Amino acid sequence: MTLQELATSLHDCQRCKLSRLGRSQVVFGTGNPHATIMFVGEAPGFHEDRLGEPFVGAAGKLLNDLLRSAGLSRDDVYIANVIKCRPPNNRDPEPDEVETCKPFLMQQIQMISPKLVCTLGNWATQTLLGRKVGITKIRGQAIPLSEFVMFPMLHPAAGLHQGGLLEPLREDFRKLKTYLEKAGTPKPAPVPVPGTAPEQSPADQMDLFGS
Ligand code: URA
Repeated sequence: MTLQELATSLHDCQRCKLSRLGRSQVVFGTGNPHATIMFVGEAPGFHEDRLGEPFVGAAGKLLNDLLRSAGLSRDDVYIANVIKCRPPNNRDPEPDEVETCKPFLMQQIQMISPKLVCTLGNWATQTLLGRKVGITKIRGQAIPLSEFVMFPMLHPAAGLHQGGLLEPLREDFRKLKTYLEKAGTPKPAPVPVPGTAPEQSPADQMDLFGS
């Protein structure tokens, strides 16, 4: 199955109660399907639910700015959330919703095969780590997992809503930049145009993290 086929298969997902609690659409993910760096947030909010794309509201604008500060752009990376449907009133995801949606996040990661997965906030971090650990304890460092390196960061919404966390959030992105510079500067992979041969094979795109 391709990433696009997975997206299509989830288009009208009814697997959990969020499909009946006012979501307008499934927000699958966006960005470069061959990205070597992926960002994972929590869940779509109001604007994401309307537009069908992750991080397009206020937190998204801040994320764009933070990406730029690390020398990245949305076109270089892939962005998804732990759960693909907006919880009512932006409440926290519930355990059954995370359990239902997590396999699709894992499939996205497997298909995109990023070297680095930056988890934004507690939900993404704990979901991918498989255990409860506070983001403030482990943020801003590379954690090697079996299939990729995880880089936990504060969530942009935390920086927006808790003034004292904006500078620590910027610091996380400075640490990401330093990490990427040490690992080798990522070259954005070309987005394939249907009917044309790719200019580079994914294996040639970058020599990130020495592999
Ligand atoms: N917050 C998230 O975690 N994800 C989004 O897509 C938007 C805001």
